[in-house]
Amino acid sequence: MSEAAKSIEYYARALRAPRITDGYRALGDRAREAGWSHEEYLAAVLSREVAEREASGAALRIKAARFPGAKTLEEFNFDHQPAADRNLVAHLGTGVFLEEAKNVVLLGPPGTGKTHLAVGIGIKAARAGHRVLFDTATGWVARLAEAHERGRLPQELTKLRRYKLLIVDEVGYIPFDQDSANLFFQLVSSRYEHASLVLTSNLAFSRWGEVFGDATVASAMIDRIVHHAEVLNLTGSSYRLRNRTTTRPQAQ
Ligand code: ADP
Ligand code: MG
Repeated sequence: MSEAAKSIEYYARALRAPRITDGYRALGDRAREAGWSHEEYLAAVLSREVAEREASGAALRIKAARFPGAKTLEEFNFDHQPAADRNLVAHLGTGVFLEEAKNVVLLGPPGTGKTHLAVGIGIKAARAGHRVLFDTATGWVARLAEAHERGRLPQELTKLRRYKLLIVDEVGYIPFDQDSANLFFQLVSSRYEHASLVLTSNLAFSRWGEVFGDATVASAMIDRIVHHAEVLNLTGSSYRLRNRTTTRPQAQ
């Protein structure tokens, strides 16, 4: 190994940029063939390091987010869901709403793509460098109840605030008892104007009183959620069942 190669590998380790060691030779060959300037070569080496570092950071954040499956916005078929405004969803994908601590609420019947869009938005956010955590409403309440039992609810809420985005799936599938409703309210309050939530529900806001067992609590919560929020009302039949009618023989 040449002295220069040894030095490069030593410095790459010292910089904690081991991918430079993997890539600098091949890029050097390309630079010689294509006649790159020294500056162009250095830029190529650094850009490769940064691109790979970001990709592995994104992969780690996506894994840490505990999504139930890898659904992307690119895979979402807007022709099947005309109620989802393409431009709005693309805008949500840019993550600008996270900087504004805005929320996103996805409402609609089962199978209309709420979880898919929520995960898609979450994956975009994770790729953009944000910490994201996904769970169902019931899962979040269980987590908070556990912290509460240990007398550490405030600490848990503070910890969760370090996540730029929390996704709360399936609000309303299971009604909450009073303690759970109270814990959920604290989660919403703790993030209000600080950090974003993406929520999905099969129930219109007018029925959230049934979920939280109390119309006043529900409306105080909805107030905080929608004060700064994008609300998407998804419609139509379940995507899961979309081929059922076409495969059935036509009745004459
Ligand atoms: P919901 O959460 O509203 O019940 P999901 O998001 O889980 O529905 O959607 C059900 C299934 O159908 C998932 O596999 C999802 O990826 C798929 N799906 C739903 N809507 C669409 C769509 N418009 N384009 C592509 N796949 C979709
Ligand atoms: Mg769902």
